[in-house]
This record gives sequence, structure tokens and C-alpha cells, in this order.
Amino acid sequence: MNYKQALDNKIFEIVSKASQELNLESYVIGGFVRDYLLQRDFKKDIDIVAIGSGIDLALKVSELLPNKPKVQVFKNYGTAMLRYKEIDIEFVGARKESYAEHSRNPIVENGTLEDDQNRRDFTINALAFSLNEKNYGDLVDPFNGLTDLENKLIKTPLDPDITYSDDPLRMMRAIRFATQLNFTIEAESLASIATNKDRIKIISGERIVDELNKILSTAKPSIGFLHLYKTGLLDIILPELTALNNVEEIEGHTHKNNFYHTLEVVDNICPNTDDVWLRWAALLHDIGKAPTKRFNKKQGWTFHGHEFLGGKMVKKIFERLHMPLNHKMKFVAKMVMLSSRPIVLSEDIVTDSAVRRLVFDAGEDVDNLMTLCEADITTKNPAKFKKYHNNFDIVRRKIIEVEERDHVRNFQPPISGEEIMEMFNLQPSKEIGVLKEAVKEAILEGEIPNEYQAAFDFVLAKAEKMGLKKIN
Ligand code: ATP
Repeated sequence: MNYKQALDNKIFEIVSKASQELNLESYVIGGFVRDYLLQRDFKKDIDIVAIGSGIDLALKVSELLPNKPKVQVFKNYGTAMLRYKEIDIEFVGARKESYAEHSRNPIVENGTLEDDQNRRDFTINALAFSLNEKNYGDLVDPFNGLTDLENKLIKTPLDPDITYSDDPLRMMRAIRFATQLNFTIEAESLASIATNKDRIKIISGERIVDELNKILSTAKPSIGFLHLYKTGLLDIILPELTALNNVEEIEGHTHKNNFYHTLEVVDNICPNTDDVWLRWAALLHDIGKAPTKRFNKKQGWTFHGHEFLGGKMVKKIFERLHMPLNHKMKFVAKMVMLSSRPIVLSEDIVTDSAVRRLVFDAGEDVDNLMTLCEADITTKNPAKFKKYHNNFDIVRRKIIEVEERDHVRNFQPPISGEEIMEMFNLQPSKEIGVLKEAVKEAILEGEIPNEYQAAFDFVLAKAEKMGLKKIN
């Protein structure tokens, strides 16, 4: 089959010309071909395989391009890259790979196109279009990848046990592609992932997280997390989540399965945010529930303090998986710590002071917190579902009202510690702290507005009760 029409970008003509000049064959392979055939959006990344030196081909292509773009050469890998009109073009020489037990980095020899297709992870990623004059645009499909595309199947070109054991990252990639494309993982392949799951331990946290982020960025991440769970990978990567997968019963009292609930929350949040960190917060919002779960006759099942513990656990997970330990981590931890607050509000009568406290504690992130908490409503009782959502509407309206009036989102005390010290001729002391805290509390409780004069008068009255005297 010929797909000349897929190659209407000038760059392919130039690669073809460069290949002729060097007297070697070249092909475009992998994601570009797959996504073209799936009519998916082109993702600004093209892989070219040369039967010969990929580096030489990249250098020649650059020479033929009008602006002679810089070629980045990765000698150790035998690859090179250049950028053409915002597109990253990667060049690699066709290769044959063999693997050692402890590493996903193969021993590499020069090879044929067929060797190179053999080393690809999935049949749908081994498809190539020829860039050679004699058969320009022909599809080279040795493993029936086209049929697998039509049947929406993730399948390895070789024995899956070899493919996954050689490079265990491919297990994550299989699950990620299945989630992104809504494809089925072939049964033999899925079974092989379960068999080889422990091999994931040789993969770095960064690479695992890369794939988790891609899964979380899809429209329905639960597809991927269920695969991760069923193959046993999740228990190795995020045991805090699998620990949520149980339902206990004591004296007729049960609690909900917080693992499946979590997956529902993650799916729920997706239409409302593309922020992968907020999606992480949805994934981790209940992780404190497994270690805090208790039963007592009076209350049944409780999870006291799970939000606080969960927030602490976020940091440990980020450390273990080599995720960024910066403001992103702090954001996820904060969301987890505050994750029950709006829910409590929505179950009850919504008072101004409770809303003010919520806005004060969540600060800039209050809207994200509301998005998380609305996704957390997974009740199947239609009356409750409606009531909670209605209450959330009230909370959202009150947040705006309270913020317009009291400006507590980025709370700055209306009267400073220095001024209080001057008023009473005090050195930095416990009293200052007490007075400042009292002002903040009075504002949050709605006793005084968030204004200078009101705060001044309040401090005067409170100080008098504490036996302090204002000077002059
Ligand atoms: P995406 O950009 O969405 O991740 P992609 O298929 O282009 O999709 P890349 O990671 O850019 O993914 O890889 C390009 C190609 O290289 C793949 O299509 C596949 O043929 C091959 N490849 C990438 N990683 C592996 C791997 N771990 N094992 C085998 N082949 C791989």
C-alpha cells in the first residue's frame, strides 16, 4: 500500500534526497506513521531510520535545508536530531539489539530495516513509510501492524516475554498506549506483563512517572490504572493506592472501596481540568485512609486525620518516584490535606465564616480545591448527588461574595505586628502573636471586617483586656 499523501511535508523530500546522495535507504517510522494511519493529531516529532549512519544522514539533511539547522549528535546512542519548523526530527541508524539481564540499555549492532522493526515495542509502532525513490510512500509492515491498528490491539512484534523482560518500560508503554488510544492489550501480552511485573524495578522513577503522567493526561485514566492494578504493577509502583482496595465488614458495617472510588474521582475530574498535578491530587486524595482506618461501635468505620497523613504521604511518594520536590509537590500535598473541607461544607448549612476559613486556608488554590471536591462526589444516590452539587454551587457563590468583601484569599493582616508593638511600646513578644492571631480570627469569624480601622479598634479593646496600655 502506498501513502505518498502522508509525506507532503517538505522535510520528507529532503530526507529522501539526502539519502540518495549518501546512497543509503531511509524510512519514517513509529509514532508519525501510527498517528497518520489513526488520523490522530500530528505531534511534532518524526523518527527517521537510516540503513546506515543516522548521524551522517542528519548532517546531510541539515546541509540541504535552507537555514542549515544545528544538528544535535548523541554519539553514544548513534542518533542525531534537528529541528525543522518546530518539528523535532530524530535520526537513527537501523540497529539490532541484545539485552543484558540487569539493564534496559541494549548492546547495539548495525542492522537491517527488519532488525530495526524487530526491536520496536509494538506492532503498531513498527510501521514505516519508505522515503526511497524506488518505492516512495510504500508502507512497510512486517508484523501486520495495520491490522492491529484496525482491531485496536496492542501487541508486541516478538514473544512478549522477551520484549517486556528486555526493556520493562515497555510494560508501562503498553498500558499507556492502551489508555491513550483506547486499545485492547492482547491477552498474551497482558499475561506476560503480569509475569514480568517485577522487572519494572530496574526502571527509574523518572521514566515511570513520565508514563504515569501520560496516563493521567488522557480522558479516562482509570483504563490505565486498572491495567496497572490487574497486572500487579501498581502494587510495586504505588502500593499506597492498592492498599485502598478492600472493603471490610464488622457487625454489619462496611465502608466504600476507596480504590475504585479514587479511580472514579480521577475520571470525574478530567473534563474539568487538564492540570496533571490536580489530577495527581485526585489520584492521591484518599491515600491516608488505609493507614488511619479504625472501627468503633459508636461511629462505625472512621478515617480520622487521613487528609493530614495523606498530605505527608504525598511527599514520600514524590521522593520515592523521583518526582519534583518543588511547588508542584506542595500543591498536591495541600490539595490532599484540604480535600475534605468543601465536602463537609456541602453536607451542611454553608456559613460565611466556614467559607472564609476555606478561602483563607486554600488561598490561590481554592478553585482547584473546589474542582477536586466536586469530582469527589461519586454517590449513586440521586437525591444526595443533587444536594451536594447544589450546596457546592452555594459554596462557589459564597466564595466570590466573601472574597469581594473580605479579601482573605491572600490574607495580609490589616494591622501589622510593628504597628501593634509601637502602639503599646512592646518588644517582639508572645502578646504580639496573641493579638495578631485574635485579629485574624475575628476577621475569619466575621466579627470585624478586614479593614484597618476595625482592626485597630479591635486590638485596642483586646489589649485592654490583656492589661496592656496604649502609649499617647
Ligand atoms: P509518543 O510520542 O506519543 O510517546 P511515539 O510512538 O512516537 O509516541 P516515542 O517514545 O517518541 O513514542 O518513540 C518513537 C518510536 O520509537 C516508537 O514508536 C517505537 O517504535 C520506538 N520506541 C520507543 N520507545 C521504545 C522502547 N522502549 N522499546 C522499543 N521501541 C521503542
